[in-house]
Amino acid sequence: MPGPRFLCDAMLGSLARWLRLCGHDCLYLGTEPADAELARIAEAEGRWLLTRDRELAAAGPRTQMVAAGTLEGQLAEVLGRHRLPPPEDLEAARCGECNGALIDVGASEVAADVPPYVLATAERFRRCAGCGRIYWPGTHGEQIHVRFARVRHLMAGSG
Ligand SMILES: [Zn+2]
Repeated sequence: MPGPRFLCDAMLGSLARWLRLCGHDCLYLGTEPADAELARIAEAEGRWLLTRDRELAAAGPRTQMVAAGTLEGQLAEVLGRHRLPPPEDLEAARCGECNGALIDVGASEVAADVPPYVLATAERFRRCAGCGRIYWPGTHGEQIHVRFARVRHLMAGSG
């Protein structure tokens, strides 16, 4: 079952990246589009528009005002509102950089693109269908798991 899809406004670039790492389809268009254009794109693509701008948040029925000041708080706020599960691991992740889907690939297919010790030790590889970036367990180190744990804690706390 496909989950909700999102579009983050210019102030929520980090949130967009982390929603993708949590496995959610989230568009981020930088600072270029004007508010009206953002609202139009969200509507046209059936996306929830996430914004820190009160006026923009009032622009349509599928908009969400993101109030939390911290990234963890913002993630908990959005996931909670849409009844999405707290992030556990990177199994479902999309590419944090471009929102592309991650495709399983064999070690031989990435041999030229990853450091030798990674090739020798990583158990599996996934390649972004959008930008070609390669992901493997440990790509993001421990930091991502610490952040996911904080989000789980916040979501548990808010019931
Ligand atoms: Zn990508």
